[in-house]
Amino acid sequence: MSGDTKAQIDALLSEVRRDIDISTKRRIYCNRNLRMDGIELIGWDMDYTLALYNQERLEKLSIDLTLEKLVANHGYPAEIMELSFPSNLAIRGIVLDCPSGNVFKMDHHGYVGRVFHGTRELSKEERVKQYRTDSRIRLSSDRYRWIDTLFGLPDAVMYMTMVDWIDGHVEKPDYQKLFIDIRMSIDEAHRDDTLKTAIKADMPGYVVKDPGLAEMLHKFRSSGKKQFLLTNSYWPYTQAVMEYLLDGERQAYPTWQNYFDYIIVGGSKPGFFNDQNPFYEVDINTGAASETPATELHGDRVYQGGNIHSFEEMTRVSGERVLYVGDHIYGDMIRLKKSRGWRTAMVLQELALENDCSDRYEQEIRDLEVLDRRRRNLQSEIDYEALMLKQIQRLLDNCEEALKPRLVAAKKQSRTTLDSLRNRSRAMQDEVTTLERSIERSYNPHWGAMFREGAATSRFGQQVSDYADLYTSRASNFLSYSPLRYFRAPRKAMPHEM
Ligand code: IMP
Ligand code: MG
Repeated sequence: MSGDTKAQIDALLSEVRRDIDISTKRRIYCNRNLRMDGIELIGWDMDYTLALYNQERLEKLSIDLTLEKLVANHGYPAEIMELSFPSNLAIRGIVLDCPSGNVFKMDHHGYVGRVFHGTRELSKEERVKQYRTDSRIRLSSDRYRWIDTLFGLPDAVMYMTMVDWIDGHVEKPDYQKLFIDIRMSIDEAHRDDTLKTAIKADMPGYVVKDPGLAEMLHKFRSSGKKQFLLTNSYWPYTQAVMEYLLDGERQAYPTWQNYFDYIIVGGSKPGFFNDQNPFYEVDINTGAASETPATELHGDRVYQGGNIHSFEEMTRVSGERVLYVGDHIYGDMIRLKKSRGWRTAMVLQELALENDCSDRYEQEIRDLEVLDRRRRNLQSEIDYEALMLKQIQRLLDNCEEALKPRLVAAKKQSRTTLDSLRNRSRAMQDEVTTLERSIERSYNPHWGAMFREGAATSRFGQQVSDYADLYTSRASNFLSYSPLRYFRAPRKAMPHEM
């Protein structure tokens, strides 16, 4: 038996586990059936996909550097350096309404569920006044910034905190300018390398080294799949992070580059999926890109830029035979799905925390579902009784005098029943709200769970469901599954089927 065949059989037989044996935070969840044996090429994003970050520390670093830039380049007073920026102020999926100082979360119908002005939650009346309009919110408008990547959380935390600060300082605050100043400063910190220099100087402090990563990549390789790296980070930073994550992890791989068949840096996603940028070879000693476009992709070289059409042509693998694993709903998932038929998997670092909460509150979540069902039943009883009362009244208005006493008694009885049903419904609603609030607070005290808004799926949750075929909390979770796994989506029920 050749070494290759043996490795393939080993991979086939190794760790064929059932979902039930895998803890929830190690599981891979499936939105759309995917047979891994049909996948020939697996692409990996780097930041927040292969490289997980210590979110609290990275957020603090990003905020500190942004504050310095706001003071040095945008004329903000030094006192802003003393503000406190709580990291739980923001979660993925919230939307900054830049000119208004507000931040909100939507459900999948586009309904605005909760709103903060700065860090103050708006009352229901304020929310309805500002956001219950007939026109749908168009998130593509310049007015809004959708926080769809973990890199975007500092934007939201800073905006919310500084809206409070500016409200206390200026009579007519310009929230739009505040947002632009914050955005430009964060962007600068990414582009001028101040952020990356600080990360590189303390890699263990910022980058989470996942012990299963090397083995997971190896397992896919030894099952016969090809792999590539496609990141928006440029070469020097990619080299530093990947070296930290993988070099020295397995003897058979002298450097991290040996895990991949193709390496693409500075990919400019989503442009990689939409545009026609050429590939340029990178000089790995200087990080400089060649001036002549590459016409072939070689496994032992590094490329910058590029586009999906040339990539498919040069690798001769396309469509459903490619799986791309990323973390950015817009840059990695949506544009890709809209432009080409690659399969997608999404890494959501926060999912592990959400899984913890769901596990801890399992009983309460079940109680909530039962209460919700009872409340709906009660509502139909109320509707029925209200109709009865109306009918009795109509009869009473048109009947003979002799029949009236019986109808008056019936009306009294119906009114009593209706009042009692309504009281029960109100009490039940209070119970649902209290339970809902306490569950939500455990996910995030301001925003609740990332995937839900009230009783509905959040807009972000809906996007994950629509565009990510698979999703999980970290890339190495693939290690718990056979590389030939047939991931099956659970059967989804419509309301009339429940
Ligand atoms: P990827 O996730 O591996 O494709 O890489 C993400 C890259 O985008 C990292 O190099 C980040 O530094 C960079 N990035 C994230 N947010 C910003 C921004 O606001 N401005 C510029 N670059 C950013
Ligand atoms: Mg990424």
